Amino acid sequence: MTDDQWGTIRDELSRTLGENSFQSWIEPLTFIETDDGIARFGVPTNFLGNYVSQNYGDVLLSKIARSNPSVRRIVFEVAPATRHQPPRDTSAKSNAVASPAVNTAPSPSDTLTGSPLDKRFTFDNFVVGKPNELAHAAAKRVAEGGPVTFNPLFLYGGVGLGKTHLMHAIAWELRTRQPHLNVLNLSAEQFMYRFVQALRDRKMMDFKELFRSVDVLMVDDVQFIAGKDSTQEEFFHTFNALVDQQKQIIISADRAPDEIKDLENRIRSRLQSGLVVDLHPTDYELRLGILQSKTETYSQMYPGLEVGAGILEFLAARIVSNVRILEGALTRLFAFASLVGKPITMDLTQECLTDILRQSERKVSIEEIQRKVADHYLIRHSDLVGPKRVRTFARPRQIAMYLCKQLTTRSLPEIGRHFGGRDHTTVMHGVRRIEELRKQDAQIAEDVELLRRSLEA
Ligand code: ADP
Ligand code: MG
Repeated sequence: MTDDQWGTIRDELSRTLGENSFQSWIEPLTFIETDDGIARFGVPTNFLGNYVSQNYGDVLLSKIARSNPSVRRIVFEVAPATRHQPPRDTSAKSNAVASPAVNTAPSPSDTLTGSPLDKRFTFDNFVVGKPNELAHAAAKRVAEGGPVTFNPLFLYGGVGLGKTHLMHAIAWELRTRQPHLNVLNLSAEQFMYRFVQALRDRKMMDFKELFRSVDVLMVDDVQFIAGKDSTQEEFFHTFNALVDQQKQIIISADRAPDEIKDLENRIRSRLQSGLVVDLHPTDYELRLGILQSKTETYSQMYPGLEVGAGILEFLAARIVSNVRILEGALTRLFAFASLVGKPITMDLTQECLTDILRQSERKVSIEEIQRKVADHYLIRHSDLVGPKRVRTFARPRQIAMYLCKQLTTRSLPEIGRHFGGRDHTTVMHGVRRIEELRKQDAQIAEDVELLRRSLEA
């Protein structure tokens, strides 16, 4: 078969198989030669070779045989020196799929196991919406295990928005698609623990070697290593060694790299050097989607249990905090309903979820904000809202205005009225000032964050 003939067959296949299947399975094949009734193809991995052989072998053979009747068999060979080869396999020989060479080198994964993967955290179970579509797409791309295009992938977002879920999903997918890859998924805390242990047992060489033999490294909740200097240092070296070898790294954190305090600058900039994507807070549609998908699972667990009309919509609108709480609410609802043997109605929902619903109902008032801020800065309420312009009163006043704008739905004139009848432009100025200062002044940023959390708690 000539390269041209193979080109024609590929074109035909791309039309008959559809873009997706073609890209996944036929595109990666490289035609090597036809010899002695055998057509040889190079494949990036054993897994791909096996898959194509099982699913597309017949189609391929019949197409090839049309122009080359002598061809009776197709063999897929793993081409050497691709990124998908385990690094220690330096033999120039290619491994024919029919008899995959047994790797006798001790596998580092024997001694280096990460967090166990959660069965539920797969791509199939991940509901995609506007707030997480970018993070999902990036995770999907990395999970394909193709050439490393961005390194690291840095996923960040608030608690319960699906970071760990996505990391596990990547690991699951890589396990099926690229089973020979040594994928290590662990939390930053576990990384530190192992590091400290290695130091204590004087096994730093082993530690370094193990981590550097990993093909894909995932470190969850990396904000944990902030302030832990020697762990950071080691992490930085591991990180660099893997990036140099073109190994994929995936990192998650609860905030953006430049917002993680006490992180060395060189690490910060390394973390930013790949693709940084955030998971935004959920919106109504995403929450509803997640509830619907979980309800399907629960309906199988509790057959015959009916969910009344409008219940999921009600929950999606009312429970706006993180997905974990949303899930928890649904779990409780199903368990409760099945215990009492009643269908899930609005009444039952209200009764069963009183506490969760009350929490999310809580609205912060201007008075509450003023009280908290005054307490925090040890000043009197009358000074907070009064006319004095000294910095000790003016700054807390601006912070309180800022929080009122952020946490309530009140208008600027309304806020102004609560601050001794100030003009709305004064309020606007105060809000802007704090917005600026939050970026420049770590103390103010921390105060604002602290106050916000305690007001929302
Ligand atoms: P994080 O690591 O960001 O704190 P997790 O990944 O642990 O959050 O997610 C919390 C819970 O919410 C998990 O049970 C997870 O399966 C679920 N979850 C989060 N986002 C989604 C989503 N888009 N679709 C389905 N489940 C989700
Ligand atoms: Mg997590």
